[in-house]
Amino acid sequence: MQPEIKKCHICGRESSFYSEYLKQSLCKKHLERMLTKRIRSALISKDYKQRKFRLSPDNSDAYKIEKFVFREDNKSSLLLMNFTLEDFALSVLDYFLSGNKPKQKIGSKTFFNPLYTASDEEIAAFLTSKGEKTKPKKITKKQEYLMEFIKDIEKRRPGGMLSIVKMGEKIGII
Ligand SMILES: [Zn+2]
Repeated sequence: MQPEIKKCHICGRESSFYSEYLKQSLCKKHLERMLTKRIRSALISKDYKQRKFRLSPDNSDAYKIEKFVFREDNKSSLLLMNFTLEDFALSVLDYFLSGNKPKQKIGSKTFFNPLYTASDEEIAAFLTSKGEKTKPKKITKKQEYLMEFIKDIEKRRPGGMLSIVKMGEKIGII
């Protein structure tokens, strides 16, 4: 059961989002700060030197949040892509269960997925607080089944979805 907490953990103002993973309620401002910081530091931790980026305009929620968080420049040598934590968790789990090699990588010299530690739910909450429309991703039946499994892991152990992705990263399949 989700605890009934209505105040932001940081400032005490009315909260708009509860993070099961962080066990924190956050107001709009602090949700935005927390997520912006995590997304930017995902990139910085990989030692990319670029300050401006090419984006991948596909009308997804991922693209929309990247427009808020990063500075766009079509001449940049680094392309930011739009796969999220869920996308990577799904492909790592699929690899463990069926041996199918993931199609997407977290990054290379020329591209990076800065949302690989950000969940669709967090991204949607961020966009909603900015007054943007969000839309759920289309996934296949098989992915739907795998996602049920991932959600169950996440419920039993908040942060479990991220652990799956980190494991995939460690063994070099994504
Ligand atoms: Zn706050």
